[in-house]
This record gives sequence, structure tokens and C-alpha cells, in this order.
Amino acid sequence: MRFADFARYCERLEAMSGRLEMIELVSEMLSTLSDDELPVVVRFIMGKIFPDWSPLKLGIGPNLLYEAVGYVVGKKKEAVIQEINRSGDAGRAIEHLVANKEQTSFFTQELDTADVYREFEHIAQIEGKRSQREKLLAVRKLFANTSPHEARYLARLMLEELRIGVGEGNVRDAVAKAFKVSPELVEHAFQAINDLGEVARLAKQGEGALGIVHIELFRPVKMMLAQQGTIADMVRDHGAVAAEFKYDGSRFQFHKRGTTCRLYSRKLEDVTSALPDVIRRLAAATDHDVILDGEVIAVKDGMPRPFQFVLRRFRRKYEVASYIEEIELVPHVFDILYLDGRMLIDLPFAERRKNLETALRAYIAPQLQGDDVGALEGFYQKALDEGHEGIMIKDLSSRYSPGVRGKNWVKIKPEVDTLDLAVIGAEWGEGRRAHFFGSYLLACLDQGLLLPVGKVATGISDEALAELHDLFKEMVISEAGKEVTFEPSIVFEVGYSELQKSPNYESGFALRFPRFVRVRADKGIDEIDTLEGIKKRFNQKPSSGEP
Ligand code: AMP
Repeated sequence: MRFADFARYCERLEAMSGRLEMIELVSEMLSTLSDDELPVVVRFIMGKIFPDWSPLKLGIGPNLLYEAVGYVVGKKKEAVIQEINRSGDAGRAIEHLVANKEQTSFFTQELDTADVYREFEHIAQIEGKRSQREKLLAVRKLFANTSPHEARYLARLMLEELRIGVGEGNVRDAVAKAFKVSPELVEHAFQAINDLGEVARLAKQGEGALGIVHIELFRPVKMMLAQQGTIADMVRDHGAVAAEFKYDGSRFQFHKRGTTCRLYSRKLEDVTSALPDVIRRLAAATDHDVILDGEVIAVKDGMPRPFQFVLRRFRRKYEVASYIEEIELVPHVFDILYLDGRMLIDLPFAERRKNLETALRAYIAPQLQGDDVGALEGFYQKALDEGHEGIMIKDLSSRYSPGVRGKNWVKIKPEVDTLDLAVIGAEWGEGRRAHFFGSYLLACLDQGLLLPVGKVATGISDEALAELHDLFKEMVISEAGKEVTFEPSIVFEVGYSELQKSPNYESGFALRFPRFVRVRADKGIDEIDTLEGIKKRFNQKPSSGEP
């Protein structure tokens, strides 16, 4: 397909708003393409150059592109930028500049989509000291051969801003329509091989070819994602479910064949060289060829460290060894997509879990299975107490859906909602915390009165516990058994997952999963949240379905 024709399709699609109309036109375009052109044009039309799993990246920033265009049209880069700012659309601005260029080239050669793709591949592979210069020359060459109209779409494609509104969903349906195959099969093949371009080529051969696609090692699969939800809803909808800690780290996908291992990030970048320690750990824990899905967290003295520590290790190119010493990373594996030549994504989660348990000797994320909401809530509390973000609840019968943010995995974590409440008492702690106030009694304000609304113990580190104890010991008014009453003067900011009606506290409300956030030294007792405000929040919140 000539690039000029591709540009014309882009223009027609850009002017369309109806989804069906778009699918019709894309499918018409696809049916004109050869086997070799299909993968390229399918990706181009979605504004992509390489498959998502591919390590190839074009690596052309706007600056380099504007400089190359400037050279071709006989202007300085600054003049190109000025024109773009004036028009607000880089594609149209570059089209205008190419249309008005001072010198016309005599040897323009017609561009073909396959040539353009080959040139992109070449650009992506340029490395070394003079790479910027070489890339600049290659981009100049491309633009020297384009018509103004082609330049509009070539520039947008290279900037990854095609902006014609054709997404994966539309292309999937257009592929199905063009080659008369089922959209579900197209989607399934796409999930396995993570490249709609290649899927289109197979679809052209028919459903037989599509049906036998298989996940391949070292071609990362999109990660399955989660929605927000509640424990009670999941149990109601699915019966017995699986609960796992929600680790606050970075997602990874581990591929291993024999002694070759690679690790990919959530964005499917290859992060193998930054994380050799994680790879060593995982490789030592299995004798199989696998693709594993998990989260890696930073730990110190057995406790998770904040997510920022993991970030310092990911994508690190230099000083990898010293960072390994400084920040210990531990993987937690919660899924398996491939085992010794078998693709497992279509198995129910319960089956995948069994495979995981036979394939891996260590680092498997602990799980609680069951339909007892109380036990699952206990697990949630345990996760928070151990410093994790919350829990994930997973449908045991669901398949692994790459790239899908569905209802089969839901995350339960404390919401960001917080209240500022007065601390009016406490209870002595137990065990390790016996010499400190363990949980603090909180109150809201109601017409001058302080009414209890709950207790908070979670979220207070050992250090904070000691500091708070020092702060509050001066304020004790009375003690009865384990209970202590304070002179109210300190305000806590407290996070919670939900407000509940409750007969246990005089305010008539209780906080679900309260979590200490901080002391509000800047607030006085008369500035805390009121009962009226709490009632308002309670009434505004849609019922979450929790009992
Ligand atoms: P969020 O990023 O808030 O949408 O939550 C989903 C993310 O939680 C996933 O992409 C993982 O990176 C992470 N996560 C942590 N623990 C788990 C787990 N046990 N199962 C699945 N995802 C997890």
C-alpha cells in the first residue's frame, strides 16, 4: 500500500465519529492488503509502529523531528516550533510547511508503507555515539520524499499522536469483519500474542490459524488488571474466592526457558539487566520453563518498604550492584501463564494456582480461599497490619485476561477519605506494645459535644507509637482497667474505607478499617469534623454492598 493511500484513509477516518462507520472503512482497507502489508498497516492505523511486546522503540523525540523537518523545508527548528504553536497541531503545521517549502526536490520517490516501516526499523536500531546524527539524517530522508499530505500523517505517526480515533477495539472488529472470523477469536489471539498486526495476518488465513495461536516465551503478555470492589460483592457474585495481599511494589512478568530468563515491567519493558537478584531468586525456585506474574517489593527487616524504593531499582542502568546491596527486592508470584510448553491463560484461576504451586518452590503469594466474609475481612486487616496496601480478591473460576481491567480481580484498599477527629482516650496495648497506648478512641463534634466514632490502631509504626505515647501521657485524666481518658486537645487525621451506622458509639456511626494518617498539629478541637458532616458523607456514599 502506498503511504499516500494510507494517509487518505487516515484523513477519512479522522473526519468520522461513528464507530460502525469506522469499522466498515478499516475493514475495507484491510481486505485490500497483502500478507506482508497487513501487520504494518494494522499497527500504523492504531498509531503504533512496533508490536507492544517488541523491544524496538523508534526513539525520535519532537526536537529531532522538528529539526529534520526544518532542514527539509529550509527553515530553522524554531520556525517549525512556532508554526506548530500557531496551528496547535504538529501534523497540520508540518503539512503546511512542506507545502510551502522553498526548494522542491526533483527526485521524489513514492513512499510505500512497507518502505516506511523498514526505515522505522532501521532508525530504531541505530545505536552508538553518532546515533542522534544518524537518526536525524534518516528522518530528513523520509520527509524529503513525502507530499504535504503524507507529511501530516508521517509526523503524527512518528510522534505517536496519530489522533484519528481508531483504537484496538475498532481494529479487532474490523479484522473480524474483513476476514469473516469471530471477534472473540481475534481478541483471544491478540491476548496471547500481543500484536494485532500479526493477528490480522493469521485472521486472513482463517479461524483455524487464529485458533492455534500460542503464548511465546520472551514475548511479554499484557498484564491482567483489577477494578475497585468490595469483599461482600465478590462473595455474593462468585461464592468462594481467593484473597491475596495487595503488594505495593512493581508488577513484573518473568519468562524462563532452560537457563535463559528475562523480566518485564508492567509496561512490558525488558528490565532484566536492572534486576539480576530478582531473576536469580526466581530461577533458583523453579526447574521449569515458565511465565510468571507477580509483584516485586522492597523489604527491610521483614517489613515492606515504600514503593519509591522499588522504583530506585527498576530500569537502573548504572551502579546496579551497589543498589542491590542497598535495596533488597523480594518477588511475590501470584499467577502463571505458561508452563513447559503449555499455555495456561484459559484455565480457571484455581487450576492455574495449582500449576503455580507445582512449578515454583518459593515466593508464591499466600492465599486465603473461602466465602466467609468475616475471615476475608480478617485477612484484609492482617494485610494492612503487615504494611501492605490492601488485598486482591479474585474469582477462582476466571481465566487470565491479558490487558483487561475486569471484575474478576478486584482490589480492596483503604480509600483516601479521611476525617479529622479528636483523640479522647486510649486502650493500653498488648504484647510488644504493652507499655504504650495501643488503640486510640476518636470523637467528632456535635454542637459542642465530643461524640465517639471509633478507634484506631492500624497505621501507627513502632516509632510513632512511642512518640504518641509521650505526647498523650501528659493528658491522662482518668484510668479504668485498660481504658484511659484524655483531656481532648490532639487531633488525628484518620483514613477509612467506609462509614457505617453503629450502635457501639454515641455518634451512631463507626469507621470501617480506620487507619492513622497523622497528627494534625495545625488543628484545634473546635475545627474537627462534625456529626452533621459525617451524616452528610454517609448519605452521599452509594451503598457498597458490604454488610
Ligand atoms: P492498581 O494499580 O491500584 O490498579 O492495582 C492493581 C495492581 O496491584 C496490579 O497491577 C499489581 O501491580 C498490584 N498487585 C499487588 N499485589 C497483587 C496481587 N496479589 N494480585 C494482583 N495484582 C497485585
